[in-house]
Amino acid sequence: MSAITIEKIEKSFCATPVLREVSLSIADGEFLTLLGPSGCGKSTLLRILAGLEVQTGGSVSIGDRVVDGVRPKRRDVAMVFQSYALYPHMTVAQNMALPLRMRRLSSWQRLPLLGRFMPGTNAVVEEIDKVVMRTAKALGIGHLLARKPGQLSGGQRQRVAVGRAMVREPAVFLMDEPLSNLDAKLRVQMRAEIKELHHRLGVTFVYVTHDQSEAMTMSDRVAVMLDGELLQVAQPQEIYDDPDDRRVAEFIGSPK
Ligand code: ADP
Ligand code: MG
Repeated sequence: MSAITIEKIEKSFCATPVLREVSLSIADGEFLTLLGPSGCGKSTLLRILAGLEVQTGGSVSIGDRVVDGVRPKRRDVAMVFQSYALYPHMTVAQNMALPLRMRRLSSWQRLPLLGRFMPGTNAVVEEIDKVVMRTAKALGIGHLLARKPGQLSGGQRQRVAVGRAMVREPAVFLMDEPLSNLDAKLRVQMRAEIKELHHRLGVTFVYVTHDQSEAMTMSDRVAVMLDGELLQVAQPQEIYDDPDDRRVAEFIGSPK
């Protein structure tokens, strides 16, 4: 079964085409990377999958459901951004608990402050605390729960952002250049950690990077993008050994 089916997605900003009939099927549990130079449309495609941007044409299905027009929170996806997008005034624990609190509150009651003191809800708060603690420990940030993002290193902030996506237990992780703000050594270490996460969770990852070696070492398949087009989708070795056309070969720097 396909986890994600992207059919002839088009996107224009003010009549300028940014995505041109992009079609792609991503298998359940696959680690697929969108690889291409800056400005080729990777983030736009990922944001369309997340529901943060509306396509001009075409259709997206997640699982067996067409999600066009479905709000981001109802898509069973979680996105990790390059900039981490943490709330600076909240602690690590509060940042990580936020998606769960929003979910519970929207189905239980819509008054967060009152909700804490209502009978029965303490159990929910405790349960959320447990999930946050467990997730933070798994990511090696269990000792940082009381800190605020400003008191963390780049690598720690990145882990918090991943943790906040994890607590939602999504069927699909969308990651937009999550390592590009880290120094080279940490970037290589975090590659391995993200891969470990993928193995452990067994869910689908759609990963975006402009970094070839990142794409080649982490992915089951790589989708090479240039100027809003998908040029080739294949296993890393195949893209290197047998690029479909000259533009792929030039970008990858392989001999064709
Ligand atoms: P990438 O992530 O591959 O660097 P993007 O998807 O961010 O590329 O951008 C693709 C193109 O779309 C770029 O030319 C960018 O300037 C343009 N673009 C992206 N978002 C917007 C927007 N909100 N309004 C206008 N143009 C945009
Ligand atoms: Mg981008």
